[in-house]
Amino acid sequence: MNIVILDGVLFIASVLLIVGLRKLSNPDSASNGNRLAAVALGLGVLVALVYPVETQNNNYLYIAFGIVVGGFIGIISAKKVPMTAMPEMVSLFNGFGGLSAALISLVWMVNYHFSGEATELGIVLLNLFLGLVAFIGSMVAYGKLSGRLKDHHLKIPFNKVLNIIILLVTVGLIVVFSFNGYLSTPQTILFIVLSLFYGITFVAPIGGADMPVVIASLNALTGITAAISGIITDNKLMLLGGVLVGSSGIILTLLMCKAMNRSVLSVFFGNFSATKGAENQVEGNAKEISASNLAIQLAYSQRVCIIPGYGMAVAQAQKIVKELEENLENKDVEFKYAIHPVAGRMPGHMNVLLAEADVSYDKLLDLDEANSYLETTDVAIVVGANDVVNPSALEDPSSKIYGMPILKLSKTNNVIVLKRSMNPGYAGIQNPLFFKDNTKMLFGDAKKSIEIILKELKDV
Ligand code: NDP
Repeated sequence: MNIVILDGVLFIASVLLIVGLRKLSNPDSASNGNRLAAVALGLGVLVALVYPVETQNNNYLYIAFGIVVGGFIGIISAKKVPMTAMPEMVSLFNGFGGLSAALISLVWMVNYHFSGEATELGIVLLNLFLGLVAFIGSMVAYGKLSGRLKDHHLKIPFNKVLNIIILLVTVGLIVVFSFNGYLSTPQTILFIVLSLFYGITFVAPIGGADMPVVIASLNALTGITAAISGIITDNKLMLLGGVLVGSSGIILTLLMCKAMNRSVLSVFFGNFSATKGAENQVEGNAKEISASNLAIQLAYSQRVCIIPGYGMAVAQAQKIVKELEENLENKDVEFKYAIHPVAGRMPGHMNVLLAEADVSYDKLLDLDEANSYLETTDVAIVVGANDVVNPSALEDPSSKIYGMPILKLSKTNNVIVLKRSMNPGYAGIQNPLFFKDNTKMLFGDAKKSIEIILKELKDV
């Protein structure tokens, strides 16, 4: 087919992809944005299949097999995976993106002769390294997010030092192999093993509340490897998609670093807070409140603020929270949502859930806005959040999460925590908030608790 026509289709696909991604930034247009981006990528695949390349191996049978098997697994898993497992699923997808990029490099190394330029092999090896790190790192992140891997499973002696040594050795090998212009099979295997090992030592020491930073940086890595794969295969759409994902991943990493109060350097050298000392025990008596008393308190409040966390996703309580909003607004109560940037298990998790329940975006307060709003709030309801409201981050220098910005509830008149038990959140640390004078607990599944509150509100 005429190359001009194919390039024209790629250009249209690029525009569709950019417009589609832009639409993702608003919940109203996000579904259409997703469809546009899918059409763009579909066009990209079609063009890649018919684009004339130097050595045409007629591999269409393999490709068709890959599309059918991959498509089948993709459709089934997207349909079957519950919303609560989405963060793990996203991690898996991210990892397979990295693996694909690594395989592109490997196929390139096996099938093509290098032009003899060191930079050419250097770029291919860099892509192999980054792709494998993104792959294995995302698999470890998957294990941690799904609870299959605990921090103590991943205790590697001298992890931090090992991490830096492996990085330096791998970079050194890329330089040496590139100047040699050739890799033997054992050298290729050594390089792959080292890259995979670096990926593990990169993510393994990252404990508890620091995960969002590493997830965002793995995202950025996959984007960068996709962009490099676009250069290697001369596929402009892959290059563009990779650049977009890579750059937004870098921005997200910086935002997450800010949200967690960590420096970027500590992310890349595995200097995470998991290495900090043991947590102080928190002692005291937590006070409870009944749903009917809470309903009365809410009905006579002027300002109510919801603090959603991972437990809201588990309970799937977003729609019932929206009903509570409507009910209280009918009683002239002002109703807002305080969103912590790392609440939940993936960046933007709470925004996605609340958008699904049609909560208006102008009711969502970011961390700084929320912290001043919470000072004058009558009742703050913590719906399945824990780490993001843990005052140890401000008060206890020995805490793992010390220094992490949190939603501050010390000045809020009444704090009600909806959760099932006194168990800790993701970071695995106790929360002194539950024992504060202005805090009361309403134990039970968040959705069920709010259903009861709504019933009680009818009688108030
Ligand atoms: P947490 O994980 O700290 O706490 C969630 C709480 O929800 C738990 O204490 C649990 O208590 C409660 N819960 C669970 N199920 C229910 C239910 N059905 N009904 C009511 N409550 C429930 O969540 P946060 O959102 O506060 O903090 C997020 C944490 O996850 C942070 O540490 C963050 O760093 C980390 N993280 C965030 C990522 C991101 O990108 N956002 C990615 C990876 C990690 P109980 O069992 O007693 O009910």
